[in-house]
Amino acid sequence: MAQKKAQPPKSVRLYVLDGGSLNIPDTSPYQLKKEELATTYMSVVSFLIAHPRGALMWDAGAVPDTGFKPGGGPGTLRYATSPKTLTAQLAEIGYTPSDIAYLTFSHFHWDHVGNGNLFAGATWLVKKAERDVMFSDPPSPRTEPANFSALKNSKTVFITKDDYDVFGDGTVVIKAAPGHSPGHQVLFLKLAKTGPVVLSGDLYHYPEERKLNKIPTTEFDAAQTAASRASVEAFLKKTGAQFWIQHDFTAMAKIKKAPEFYD
Ligand SMILES: [Zn+2]
Repeated sequence: MAQKKAQPPKSVRLYVLDGGSLNIPDTSPYQLKKEELATTYMSVVSFLIAHPRGALMWDAGAVPDTGFKPGGGPGTLRYATSPKTLTAQLAEIGYTPSDIAYLTFSHFHWDHVGNGNLFAGATWLVKKAERDVMFSDPPSPRTEPANFSALKNSKTVFITKDDYDVFGDGTVVIKAAPGHSPGHQVLFLKLAKTGPVVLSGDLYHYPEERKLNKIPTTEFDAAQTAASRASVEAFLKKTGAQFWIQHDFTAMAKIKKAPEFYD
């Protein structure tokens, strides 16, 4: 059945797209023992933010849509498994990838950029330091360059400020939170009914990292991570925003997924 094309909403909507899970082979880089964790699995989610003036994708999953076999069944990449293509989930809410005006990633690691190529027609919002590492030679082993190679020629806006207000009305603000990667960032959303929400990127992975104050051993710059965490925690306190840890398997299992939305 042909889907109706999505119309711009009257106020900001947040759709959660299910990118499946990561079966983490070894938790020691997180400085956490198996016994300290509710589960060793991590969730993978990406987000479509529908604003009256355009749509923004925040992250793009781990498994590219091209990693699904034509016969059906889940797609896989490294230790990620995804139940359904991103294109199919977008179609369910009336979007094609070419309807997306803006693309930004929390950071460049493989489990966040899987479907980067789908959004080559969007304007890419990125810190220069992050883009540089994405196209470095040799490439970082922490990413899959083939999954975002089409962005090399995309219209690109370099974010130079700590707070980047995407639509100029304070409802969708990209906030610098470096450390996990050179240009790691989190996303602040002001939703009319839900209230303020911050999407974590990988500022934390497991909720226990936050509780037990553990910083992974594999950060780009651990001191920067500590400073970014302190700044985001202060911001959460000040704004009363909900904080969604994107890899928190238990929490993400409970939130509404597209076609449902938060507004
Ligand atoms: Zn991640």
